[in-house]
Amino acid sequence: MQSGEWSGDRKAVLERDEHTCRRCGTTAQEAHAGLRLYPIGDIELEDGVHESAVVTVCPGCHDSLHSDPDPDLEPTPKQLFEFVRTATEREGVTVSAVAAFASLVSGLRETLEGVDTTDPDAVADIATEYRQARREVLLAIESVDADLEHLHALDSDRLEPAVADALIEFRGTSMKLQSELRGIVALGELVVTGLDRCPGCFDPLEFSNSRCAACGLSQHDIDDWRDSDGSVAFGELHGAINETLQTASDTTEALTEHTTAVATELRGETNSS
Ligand SMILES: [Zn+2]
Ligand SMILES: [Zn+2]
Repeated sequence: MQSGEWSGDRKAVLERDEHTCRRCGTTAQEAHAGLRLYPIGDIELEDGVHESAVVTVCPGCHDSLHSDPDPDLEPTPKQLFEFVRTATEREGVTVSAVAAFASLVSGLRETLEGVDTTDPDAVADIATEYRQARREVLLAIESVDADLEHLHALDSDRLEPAVADALIEFRGTSMKLQSELRGIVALGELVVTGLDRCPGCFDPLEFSNSRCAACGLSQHDIDDWRDSDGSVAFGELHGAINETLQTASDTTEALTEHTTAVATELRGETNSS
């Protein structure tokens, strides 16, 4: 999908996403070059990608998700702080999206028990809500990844040592948070697998070559989360999700402190220069 072309029903996806960039909120009217579709998650891109794995983005967001960082970039202290501030803001959005996803997943079993799951219409709304929450989470995580890559590409030799050190701390904590958030999503996807549904498209699980027959997502191995009688240990899965959420909340606090530290160092640099 390098060309940005997608063989599926583009119009249906744009309608689903209300003709709005899911990353920054730019509308079709505002995006003069037109909205684009962006693939998310661990999915094979060769064939027609399932609609559950594409999101609508504006050209600007598409570029910043796609573009390689510029190693020759020499941001001013002010620009550098803007980078860090944007990344911190996006981390905040991501933490909220992950918390919403976790809460939705934690209630899924009960929600599904309340409907006639043999009736496709009864499950459709639940599936739509789940897929949307998952797409938002994956897009948010990828957005932060892109920000961090751009920060990582900066040549630290060109920075004041104290600024470079503060940035290293910031990046390390961001990456820790990213990995915790990914962990929560993975656990949530295991819950869905345990409910015998595909964690990508939410269809009832049916595999071909260890991939979902409907959307192509690779199969999640849930064997480590089974009780001795073979049933899925949902209680433990939910416990692990809550524990990781708590850890991520602590890491978020630490990240805020590192952002402040970067700001302080940059301010010092501005004053001394
Ligand atoms: Zn956008
Ligand atoms: Zn699927």
